[in-house]
Amino acid sequence: MNKMKIGCHLSVSKGYYKMGVDALSIDANCFQFFTRNPRGGATKKLADGDLEKLTALMKENDFAPILAHAPYTLNPAAADERVREFALMVMQDDLRILEGIPGNYYNFHPGSHVGQGAEKGIELIVAHLNQVLDPGLRTTVLLETMSGKGSEVGRTFEEIRAIIDRVDHPELLGVCMDSCHIYSAGYDIVNDLDGVLTAFDKVIGLERLKAIHLNDSMKPFNSHLDRHEKIGAGTIGLEALVRFTNHPVLRALPFYLETPHEDLTGYAEEIRVLREAYQG
Ligand code: FE
Ligand code: FE
Ligand code: ZN
Repeated sequence: MNKMKIGCHLSVSKGYYKMGVDALSIDANCFQFFTRNPRGGATKKLADGDLEKLTALMKENDFAPILAHAPYTLNPAAADERVREFALMVMQDDLRILEGIPGNYYNFHPGSHVGQGAEKGIELIVAHLNQVLDPGLRTTVLLETMSGKGSEVGRTFEEIRAIIDRVDHPELLGVCMDSCHIYSAGYDIVNDLDGVLTAFDKVIGLERLKAIHLNDSMKPFNSHLDRHEKIGAGTIGLEALVRFTNHPVLRALPFYLETPHEDLTGYAEEIRVLREAYQG
């Protein structure tokens, strides 16, 4: 009965409605997109009625929330004040646009402390979020779990929890779990998925978990490296990923593929395989 909620990363370059059309063409019922180019450039001007047309398409086709991804080069934990100000400006602007399609998600990488230490990084991220999270917001902001490459904050569930604990409006925050990232971060979803989810629940609380980035990994367990691989071609493997999508705690969540593909056919095939393996 329960239809699996699955989609992939799409490009916003031809507008919002076009992403909905693309999603339907590959049997997806949700999708993710970068709000602007990854370097954080300007957003394209929205065509008239674009957001309204997407909203209607999503409703008609019973879509799960869509996931807007902040440019991954933004760093709210930077030591340089201008870099932090830029992150603030971009996130406020993105969230303003998303108010045109309320009820969806905005995901961001918490940041890199660039040698200032995780504690200082967390403090800066909290200060950033306190300026961004306006109680009237109709978008849920998601912190992404990170692999811990370089000085990334968000490698452990404890760091994510510390951020949520200290913001003024934690009710506006959720978590997006990236399967590739947590495996690289040292959470063994291949051999001990139950243990990992129990730890997540204990430290953060499963009610905070809103979305899954579903990726295989090119790098070994606990490597702290962030390289996504196609589903079934990496160190996590198809069997573990199918157990992951069918797990009672995860199966109702929306899954967003961020696997490396040149075009939509690769995603279409992954969606087909994962839907087929989903125990409806
Ligand atoms: Fe990400
Ligand atoms: Fe991700
Ligand atoms: Zn990644």
